[in-house]
Amino acid sequence: MPSTGTINLDTHIESLPSVGTALTKAFGSVGVFNVADLLYYFPTRYMDYRKTVNIANAVEGETITILGRVKSVRANLGFRSRMSYSEATIEDGTGKIKAVWFNQTWIAKSLKVGDEIILSGKLSFYKTLQFTNPAYELIKPDMQNEAGTQNYLHTGRLVPVYRRSDLIPLRTLRKLIQQCLPVAADLEDFIPANIAKTASKQNQKILAIADAVRFLHFPETEEQVTEARFRIAVDDILPQQLAVLLRKDLRDQDHGLKIKANINQVRTFLNTLSFTLTAAQKRAAWDIFQDMEAGAPMNRLLQGDVGSGKTIVAILAALQTAGAGFQTAILAPTEILAKQHYDTFRSVLGSGDGVALLTRTFANVNGKEVSKAVLNKQIENGEIKICIGTHALLQGKTDFHKLGLVVIDEQHRFGVGQRSFLVGAKNKTQPHLLSMSATPIPRTLAMSLYADLSVSTLSQVPSGRKPVQTSVVSEAKRESAYEFIRQEVKKGHQAFVVTPRVEDTDTSDVRSVKKEYARLQKEVFPKLRLGLLYGKMKGTEKESVMRNFADGKLDILVATSVIEIGIDIPNATAMIIEGSERFGLAQLHQLRGRIGRNNFDCKCFLFTTQDNQQDTKRLNALAKINDGFALAQLDLEERGFGDLFGKEQSGFMFRFPKFITAKALATGREVAALIHDQDPKLAKFKRLRELAQGYLEELHAE
Ligand code: ADP
Ligand code: MG
Repeated sequence: MPSTGTINLDTHIESLPSVGTALTKAFGSVGVFNVADLLYYFPTRYMDYRKTVNIANAVEGETITILGRVKSVRANLGFRSRMSYSEATIEDGTGKIKAVWFNQTWIAKSLKVGDEIILSGKLSFYKTLQFTNPAYELIKPDMQNEAGTQNYLHTGRLVPVYRRSDLIPLRTLRKLIQQCLPVAADLEDFIPANIAKTASKQNQKILAIADAVRFLHFPETEEQVTEARFRIAVDDILPQQLAVLLRKDLRDQDHGLKIKANINQVRTFLNTLSFTLTAAQKRAAWDIFQDMEAGAPMNRLLQGDVGSGKTIVAILAALQTAGAGFQTAILAPTEILAKQHYDTFRSVLGSGDGVALLTRTFANVNGKEVSKAVLNKQIENGEIKICIGTHALLQGKTDFHKLGLVVIDEQHRFGVGQRSFLVGAKNKTQPHLLSMSATPIPRTLAMSLYADLSVSTLSQVPSGRKPVQTSVVSEAKRESAYEFIRQEVKKGHQAFVVTPRVEDTDTSDVRSVKKEYARLQKEVFPKLRLGLLYGKMKGTEKESVMRNFADGKLDILVATSVIEIGIDIPNATAMIIEGSERFGLAQLHQLRGRIGRNNFDCKCFLFTTQDNQQDTKRLNALAKINDGFALAQLDLEERGFGDLFGKEQSGFMFRFPKFITAKALATGREVAALIHDQDPKLAKFKRLRELAQGYLEELHAE
């Protein structure tokens, strides 16, 4: 056993044996700075090398492990076009087998004839049975532990595989983690044993944290991996759930505003619309009216698939609020969407109703541009009844006169803390809160994420829409997808081309969308009018591109996923999504919802950059299923929470979103309730309290 006497959770990574500056830097880039970080750097998958066989029984195509002795070994350094490689023959008393490692001539130097060795990998047949690039390790006496089983790291077991192995060599990483693993015993266990026991009774077993960490790195069974991921997920959920409970405590101390519904006013307004509300819209509006009348501050999520007509429900709520003499703030995640809402509100409500737009770029009142200072003044003195904006509204100097209602569109884009800001900080009396989401969160998930939340769902989409025909297309069919777009444009329709997130950095995404735009314009659609849109553009630029597209002055809009949300272009009938495997299903569903807002036949083509069976299966589900909620549920079941919102920031501070399952959510919720019952102020749970406070941060930032 390596000595761990000097290693503890706070030990810096660079002071671990054999970690130099290069490796320290690599670890830094994945957020690993000390031993605690390292222990939480979990494998993404495992190689199953548990099947050990005698060489005589080895079969081509099987992934197996053999134990033997090196009979011969040599390096071929290669010249001209020949590959360089290491080659060894291994025998085990029942037979012998060849192992070849391409390009890795150093391996030959590290092996000696007579060495005892263990090899794992898939057997292929090339003249004779052979291991190609197998995992291997030398058998040393200290690998035998008390239980008599072998302590292999890279072979002969479920072998952990970690991300960014290009930066951090797996063999080095496994060795480091093995050395630090005993320190896992010092990790703080958030869940007291008695609570773990109570919660385990109804749900899945809750492992001790140290066991969970050990099992994740070096499991003996798949079951251990499942149980360990579950435990980590519960830990991840706990602070969020506690934040919800703490916030509920705070909210319960407040009394809300009573805003009475004026049914006649509602009727009159509805008569001015060109359509009648769907039953689901009526029900949602009714729910909201009831909440706002009741006195306690409303906290309701209005969720509905893309195009289900959430905006009009929000308008009804805002109208009620204005009628009772209060103001409404409407928050959208992007400037484009804020502007679109502003236009919609104005066209529906008529002019002169005190509707304003306030974002980084815009300050408009009743259709006229004003200075931000003037607009802020009008908000402060109550002239503005409805103010639509982006985060700027949250962060700016805006002080509302009498804020009665806050509507947050695409609420999952805002962290829980951010949501609390407007609601809690500046107003002594809590305004009502209506969140809207088109990213369908399965109801069960919504309820467990927000214990204090009521949910209204718009399950129907107003009739007359045809589902978007979605297909996963191979490169061979690329030209026919382009041809479809040309034909559609000929008919006077429009198309989107969406490029994927390339990296987690905005700059390379911008580069890739610009490149694709240039390529399409030059090589594919030289005669068509193309526009370019991405998040980092200036608000006014975005606005003018969107305006041109909406006015039909552009045929094709090449964009990043900024168009995911909300944009309404009824004339668009085709969409190409590049690198579609990088998006979550729910997100892809939203993207394609940008088309099909009409009665035409619409097509969405999904291209992939990597051929991967699991992704293809996932994407094919999208082709078959048109119900956003069903898709979200599927994503949740198959891939956990992480993919529900794609690889983008989800607004939740989960460290391990991929581990989070519906079951873990339920358990996390239960554990949070038990802890909260036992210790409502979390006096004995310092770290948990800090983490929960993180979610509530802005609530207290006065
Ligand atoms: P989302 O729920 O995605 O935000 P919107 O509120 O933008 O959807 O509505 C999409 C479109 O459907 C809008 O053009 C809106 O005017 C229209 N719409 C809303 N409700 C109805 C309805 N009951 N009947 C017909 N069209 C409707
Ligand atoms: Mg919308």
